[in-house]
Amino acid sequence: MPKPALQLFGILLLVGLAAGVKEDAPFDLFLLVWTYSPGFCMKEKCTVDPISAFTLHGLWPEFENGKWPQYCKTGSAAGSLPDDTAELRCKWESFKGPDEEFWAHEWDKHGTCAQPVVGNRPTYFRTTLDLDEMYDLDEALAAHDVTPSDSHSYAAEDLLNAISDSYGAAPLLKCKGKSLVEVRMCLSLDLKPIDCPPALKSECGATVKLPEGEQGRPARGPTWSTEQELELQLRQPDLPSNVVQN
Ligand code: AMP
Repeated sequence: MPKPALQLFGILLLVGLAAGVKEDAPFDLFLLVWTYSPGFCMKEKCTVDPISAFTLHGLWPEFENGKWPQYCKTGSAAGSLPDDTAELRCKWESFKGPDEEFWAHEWDKHGTCAQPVVGNRPTYFRTTLDLDEMYDLDEALAAHDVTPSDSHSYAAEDLLNAISDSYGAAPLLKCKGKSLVEVRMCLSLDLKPIDCPPALKSECGATVKLPEGEQGRPARGPTWSTEQELELQLRQPDLPSNVVQN
């Protein structure tokens, strides 16, 4: 699908979901979670080089008290991944193992519980990709001169204010030492940014570092060329049937 059509489809999907939110949703809010791989790879043994950009970790249902549902039983057909796995590979990359295993884990652990509000597996992945398109952390931070740097430290407040200025609510930050590992944005059940409930806390100190990663592997669609997609598809065979099928 061409990009403008894809964006329109995404917006309609989100509007549709927002209109259909159930009062009796079995959780209170969502966390939209991104990995900052240069920090993540200081904490975990990565199998690919980290990049200077935020990539998706997942869309998680959450309770206001800081607990969350996980590994929910799904009804009938849960559906497959979106056809365009090149977009998933680019924006929802696994830094420690096969992408397919990471996606399957996110669906099994979180997506299955988000299903009453978000819908089945293709909608879960499409919705999360569309949210990533709408809430571009790299752009929000760069607009406030917060860019990856091995030499600079930033006030945690600067990161929170930059994201809050752009999207209306401050997220949660997770660090390893001073290095940023993850950003978690709280979303209402109709998928709008909200202030996080008090039980959910940032885990960074007053200063935060965004170490530099590789520049050469673009994390976002517009710079991702057809040749690169083709090359990836050739390198990465189709998903095994136990991952994409019910
Ligand atoms: P979860 O199980 O979804 O709550 O997330 C925690 C797990 O995801 C941990 O094992 C992390 O190491 C892993 N994780 C987080 N971000 C990534 C990433 N970008 N690539 C691979 N694994 C990740």
